[in-house]
Amino acid sequence: MQTGRFIRRENPENGIARIVLARPEARNAQSPDLLYELDAAFTSAAADDSVRVIVLAADGPDFSSGHDLKAGTALPCPPVATIAAGLESGGAEGHYAFECETYLGLCKRWRDIPKPTIAQAHGRTIAGGLMLLWPMDIIVAASTATFSDPVTAFGVNGVEYFTHVWELGARRAKEILFTGRTMTAHEAQTAGMVNHIVDLDELESFTLDLARRIAARPPFGLRLAKESVNRCLDAQGQSVALDSAMGLHNLGHAAALARHGQIVEPTGIDVILREAKGAPLNTATAGVGTDD
Ligand code: ZN
Repeated sequence: MQTGRFIRRENPENGIARIVLARPEARNAQSPDLLYELDAAFTSAAADDSVRVIVLAADGPDFSSGHDLKAGTALPCPPVATIAAGLESGGAEGHYAFECETYLGLCKRWRDIPKPTIAQAHGRTIAGGLMLLWPMDIIVAASTATFSDPVTAFGVNGVEYFTHVWELGARRAKEILFTGRTMTAHEAQTAGMVNHIVDLDELESFTLDLARRIAARPPFGLRLAKESVNRCLDAQGQSVALDSAMGLHNLGHAAALARHGQIVEPTGIDVILREAKGAPLNTATAGVGTDD
């Protein structure tokens, strides 16, 4: 087992690496430190020839509460996803550079890890938390898991990895974004976002069984299958749509910055907390650590 500050790598059995979000006291809120530790863990597992399947799991009561704005935007290492420019520029320009690298850039890297990836989700996954689930190939959810992207309340379109339409379908994506409401695991499975729902106490063993079944197949066939599916998504325009939505997302940040001197609408968190009171499992945003 390798242990980092916010990420833990486990090797539950031959051929399978389990990477664990290990910041439960902050509901696995995503500081730059956590994200780049996660990237390093993915990179290491991808390069390790003994690893055939990668599982992403999380410690604590929730999978992830989203981005951790309090942690700031300083990168703990040189950029890895983009040839970045403007990271030190400040304002809308600096924030755009930060999000292109740290949010969208890392997610695109993780989507294209040349090995099968499986996320096991439990508890709440809020806003930026979805950006750890959606780049994975397969999602297994605990029956009590919930998912939400409430960030239109902050004056932006949705989280920075804008695959909502592929994950949920266009009409459900619009409703989820317009209302900010929480989806149950069952709804997420109905929409096609979740592969399997299992009891929480079976989440780890079920996911490991699935990983074992995949790991028995030749790695190169798996890689080619994954790349073929991802290229189909690209042929549908997903990559261009992501870049387009990222520009609009940062238009929202720039508008808030011009109007309020901060990158999100200041009333956003109040809106989210108020609306969450009427949502299923109404603790949906109690631990929100997300800005966007
Ligand atoms: Zn943002």
